[in-house]
Amino acid sequence: MFVPKTFLAVGECMVEMAPTGEGTYKMGFAGDTLNTAWYARKCLPDSWSVGYLSAVGQDQVSGRMIDFLKSSGIDTGEMRTLGDRTVGLYLIQLEGGERSFAYWRSQSAARLLAADRAHLEQAMRKAALVYFSGISLAILPESDRKVFLECLKIARSGGTQIAFDPNLRPRLWEDAATMRECVTAAAGLCDFVMPSFEDEFTHFKDATPQESAERYLQAGAGMVVVKNGSEEVVWASDRDFRSFQPGPVPNVVDTTAAGDSFNAAFLATFLAGGDVVASVEAGAALAGRVIQHRGALVPCLEPIGQD
Ligand code: AMP
Repeated sequence: MFVPKTFLAVGECMVEMAPTGEGTYKMGFAGDTLNTAWYARKCLPDSWSVGYLSAVGQDQVSGRMIDFLKSSGIDTGEMRTLGDRTVGLYLIQLEGGERSFAYWRSQSAARLLAADRAHLEQAMRKAALVYFSGISLAILPESDRKVFLECLKIARSGGTQIAFDPNLRPRLWEDAATMRECVTAAAGLCDFVMPSFEDEFTHFKDATPQESAERYLQAGAGMVVVKNGSEEVVWASDRDFRSFQPGPVPNVVDTTAAGDSFNAAFLATFLAGGDVVASVEAGAALAGRVIQHRGALVPCLEPIGQD
């Protein structure tokens, strides 16, 4: 029997309420790791399954989230269902053209995604690649973070590849020092570390993307891909340092999910045997298309590679 390889994204998907007019909102679903899973599903061939590991409640909105994942081609077999919790929610607020966000996520079901160690370990071991972010770690209780990192280590020793976007959001952590410490420890367990320089500059005070790459290599990362908006992408491994200039994007309207979509296309190309040049080009090409549209999940992308 043919068993597809699994790209397993782990983290929090939330309900998104986006304004459509005065006092009216459209409900959708989004979250950094979910965005990457969604784009990975579009980029990977059918020989790959894309799964999402998180936790939801048993209520109607949780059911709608699961239906959304399934309808996007994402496998929900590893999702946990908890009777006494529900999913997190955020509201996009517009004031003078500026977007701001209000969150209701402190008691979300996803915070318990690592509470069942046996389940987490088994799901990670079965996957060919596990993808997670700093937000996936930030939302966990401290003891579950340790469990999460232990499970990653065990899965990796069994051959699972690990990919990580630090996605530094200090407000989700108890303090910035804990964030830096935990993100550094996590990066040391990874084959791919894929930060955005703006975050690294702000929270680690790196002077250049090369410095960010160096720091994560020293922590133990296998390879580092530092994105930097319209500037050069820096790729580094212990043997090589390279930089690539993404092509110009004519009409940038919303950079939401630029990094998430870049990561999906980079990893999909690399996992399919592409080299670093092809993988960075695929990442930049997809991100370049996504940012020309509003919202995180841009539905006008099929098939990838053709406009
Ligand atoms: P970021 O996470 O914002 O650094 O962006 C991720 C990727 O999206 C970058 O590496 C670029 O490939 C693409 N990108 C983001 N912003 C821009 C922009 N203003 N112009 C061209 N490409 C961009």
